[in-house]
Amino acid sequence: MNCDYSSLTPELIGRYSAQGAFYTSYPTGRQWTSDFDAGDFQRGLRNLLQRDPDAPLSLYLHIPFCQRRCRFCFCFTEITRDRERIDGFLQVLFQEIKLFRGLFDAWGVQPNIREIHLGGGSPSYLELDQLETVIEHLRLLVDIESLDEFTLEADAITVTAEKLLVCHELGINRLSFGIQDFDAKVQEAVGRVQSPELIAQLMTPKVRESFRSINFDLMYGLPFQTRESFSETIRQVADLSPDRAAIYSYCHMPHMYPHQATIREADLPGLDEKTFIFADAAESFTRSGYEFIGIDHFAKPTDDLAIARADGTLLRHFMGYTAGRTSHLLGLGPTSISGFGGCYAHNVYSLDEYRQAISEERVPILRGYEMTEDDHIRWAVISRFLAYMSVDLAVVDGAFDITSSSYFAPELDALQPFVDDGLLEWMPGGFRATELGRLFARHVCAVFDPHAVVEGRGRKDKFVPAIQRSQS
Ligand code: SF4
Repeated sequence: MNCDYSSLTPELIGRYSAQGAFYTSYPTGRQWTSDFDAGDFQRGLRNLLQRDPDAPLSLYLHIPFCQRRCRFCFCFTEITRDRERIDGFLQVLFQEIKLFRGLFDAWGVQPNIREIHLGGGSPSYLELDQLETVIEHLRLLVDIESLDEFTLEADAITVTAEKLLVCHELGINRLSFGIQDFDAKVQEAVGRVQSPELIAQLMTPKVRESFRSINFDLMYGLPFQTRESFSETIRQVADLSPDRAAIYSYCHMPHMYPHQATIREADLPGLDEKTFIFADAAESFTRSGYEFIGIDHFAKPTDDLAIARADGTLLRHFMGYTAGRTSHLLGLGPTSISGFGGCYAHNVYSLDEYRQAISEERVPILRGYEMTEDDHIRWAVISRFLAYMSVDLAVVDGAFDITSSSYFAPELDALQPFVDDGLLEWMPGGFRATELGRLFARHVCAVFDPHAVVEGRGRKDKFVPAIQRSQS
C-alpha cells in the first residue's frame, strides 16, 4: 500500500516533538542496572534452556573495529589498521565462545542457535582468514550449515564482490550495507564517502543470487540533508534494489559521542524538515513496491520481514525487526546486548574490562534487568503495536489473564488525543495506527511506558540509548 503523508503538518509535528525511546525492549536500557550481574545472566539463561531446551536462539557478535570513523556513528568501535590488535581481540572473543560452550556442557544442553549476526564496528573489515577463524570457533556452538540466517554487516570500502562471495562460501547468507546517504555534500560532512557506483559494483548478479537478502541501512537527519537530496538518495537506492532497507534517525549527542562534535548543529535539518525527509522517503519506498514494516523498515514483498508480517510472526527486538524464528538473543563481545527468557543484559564497554572478565571466566555483564509480570504485559502491547501497528487487546488478555480495559484504563484514556488527531483509530477490542499515525507510533508506545520521558511526566534528562545495531 502506498503511503500518503500530505496531511502531515508542522503544527502536528510540533505537538508531538517530545523525545522518546525506540523500544527495542521494554523496559528500555535506562531502567537496567548493575544489580543484575553475571550470576543473574547465567541463572536466567540456564532456566530458559532447561525449561525449553529447543528454544530458538540468535547469536550477535560485536567486532569493534573499523577502517574509518564516520562522524555520525554511535557504535562502540575503534579505528585501527593494526591487524595484531584485531587478532588479539579475536583471541578473547574465542575464549568467550569457549566460556559459553563450557556453560552449555555444564547444564547438559545443546543450544538451538538458528541465526547469527556479525555486527560492530565493521566485521567486514576482518581479513578473510580472520573471518574464517571466527566461523570455525562458532562451530563449537552451532552447526553453521543448518543456520536459517547468517548476516554480515558490511562497510563497502572494506569488501569486494569476490570477498563477499568467499563469505558466502563460509556460510554467510545475508548482507547488510551501511549506506546512510548518497549525497556527496552529506557524505563529505559525515566523513563517509562512497558512491552509488561502488555499491553497484559490489551487487553483482552473482552476489545477488548468492545472498538470500541484502539490506541497506540509511540515516535521516544528517548535516546538509534536505527533502530533495534525500529523495534523490532513495531513488538511487531503489535503483540498486536491495531486498530490505531501514532508515534510522541521526541523534546528535556530542556529549556522549565526542566525534559527533565535528558535525555542526547549525548544519542539521530542523525538526520539521527532518520529519518530512523521513515521510518523503517512506512515500518513495512504498511507491517503489516496498512494504512499510513497523516504524522504520521497508521490505520487498518477497523478503522474510514482509512474509513474517503477513504470517503474524514478525517480532520487534534489539536488531530492529526479525522474522520471528527466534525471540531470544545472546550477545557476545563488548557492548553486546542479550535478551532472553525475560532477562536483558548489556556487556561492558571497554576492551580492557572485557578482556579482564573473560580472563576470569566471567560473562562480561555491565548491567541488566529481569522483567516483571507487568513488564511482560506492557511489552506485549508495545512490541505488537510496533510490529503490526495495531493491538488486539483480547490477545493480551488471553495471554496474561488480565482485563485490559481495566488494567490499562488510564493508558486507553490517554490514547484519545491520538484518535482526535487522526493518528489512531479504535477498532473492536483494540486500536490501530492510521497511516499518518505510523510516524508517531513511538509516542503511542510511550503511553504504555510508565518510565517514559514525556512532557509533564517522568524525568526529562537524556538517556543512554541501548543500541545494538551498527551502521557499518
Ligand atoms: S558507522 Fe559503521 S563504519 Fe562508520 S565508524 Fe560506525 S561502525 Fe564504523
